[in-house]
Amino acid sequence: MLIVCHYGEIALKGDNRKFFEEKLVDNIKKSLQHNGIIFNYVKRISGRILIRLESEGESEGVKLLPFELRKEFHSFQHVLQKVFGLSYFSFAWQCALDLAAIKNKAIEILKNENFTSFKVETKRSNKKFFLSSQQINEQIGEIVMEGLNKKVNLHNPDITLYIEITDNQAFLYTKKIIGPGGLPLGVSGKAISLISGGIDSPVASYLTMKRGVENIFVHFFATERGYEQSLEKVRDILRALKNYQEKIKVYFVPFSDVQKAIVLQTRADFRVVLYRRAMFLVANEIAVQEKAKALITGESVGQVASQTLDNMLAIEEAVSLPVLRPICGWDKQEIMDLAKKIGTYEISILPHLDCCSMFAPEHPATKANLAEVKTQEKKLKLKKLIKNALKECKVEKYE
Ligand code: ATP
Ligand code: MG
Repeated sequence: MLIVCHYGEIALKGDNRKFFEEKLVDNIKKSLQHNGIIFNYVKRISGRILIRLESEGESEGVKLLPFELRKEFHSFQHVLQKVFGLSYFSFAWQCALDLAAIKNKAIEILKNENFTSFKVETKRSNKKFFLSSQQINEQIGEIVMEGLNKKVNLHNPDITLYIEITDNQAFLYTKKIIGPGGLPLGVSGKAISLISGGIDSPVASYLTMKRGVENIFVHFFATERGYEQSLEKVRDILRALKNYQEKIKVYFVPFSDVQKAIVLQTRADFRVVLYRRAMFLVANEIAVQEKAKALITGESVGQVASQTLDNMLAIEEAVSLPVLRPICGWDKQEIMDLAKKIGTYEISILPHLDCCSMFAPEHPATKANLAEVKTQEKKLKLKKLIKNALKECKVEKYE
């Protein structure tokens, strides 16, 4: 049994192409291994990746079973649909680059399928093959019409037989399974994701992972009663994200001392902006240690008081790293829909102790003036507070 995997954008990456493809191969192998799925090999061939599921010695009876009936089908599908970089993949049959062999294989496959109308769709990456894609469509179509007594329907067929002509072999299949798209995880470097217990930040993390960014997480917590339960919630969210990024590393940073200092020494309406600046500064330090090149947040423009453009400006000024806000243009409903799809929503909606809503003022500033924010911040011994918070943080890894 064989799976042919296709990728989209990687193909455009010029000199980096080999690096991207090798990363994708590596990520596929690791995902399968992590899920305890046995395979024979995963390898690159011209413009696609092949996964061979077992050694060649499978019995003829098993060979002809529709893939959906085989026990490995669902586990492979489940895992591959979470490997970023895959645009689609197919459980496929393979045969020699020979017209008679392709004809035989086409009949062998389609005679097990239930349909009345069909079409053939050929893609040739091997341009030296003696027939064009269109000629192959016609010749195979004719054999199926005559041999199985079926009708061609180019616009709305019951079944499509896909044929790929590569350098050394042909692949045939009838179903394309859509992958998650994006770029292989890790090709875009590392970034620090500020993860709360809420709905938005896990979605922001997911979207950056999808673009190949390895996330390292930081979570700030209040050391008040009940905090352990909130940390457990964050761990649960991270376990859900582990489906997309196998190795998770998280810094749990105690934040109560920073918050108390802000509450006691600065203007009430600036608290949230000052909390956030302190969070960004801590995250920036962690980024330096981890050689990460950006921060990630789940902010969306205008969603709450701290997320106006004025306040984003006043917050972001604290650090020099770029801040990625992948959901900045999304409505809450859109964010919730994706959270459900990626499996974090049900965890995020459970109640938790949110350090930022503690001592949150009744009327937070929606347009914090940067100069005034800095004047307030100067009242704090911020460097020392940040140093202490980092000293007391706990790092956890899930692999
Ligand atoms: P979320 O659903 O992600 O909590 P939110 O809509 O509740 O977002 P805020 O609470 O204003 O928005 O937080 C904005 C962003 O700041 C979050 O998306 C997250 O990236 C970061 N953040 C907030 N609280 C924390 C925290 N305790 N630890 C780490 N990051 C946080
Ligand atoms: Mg929040």
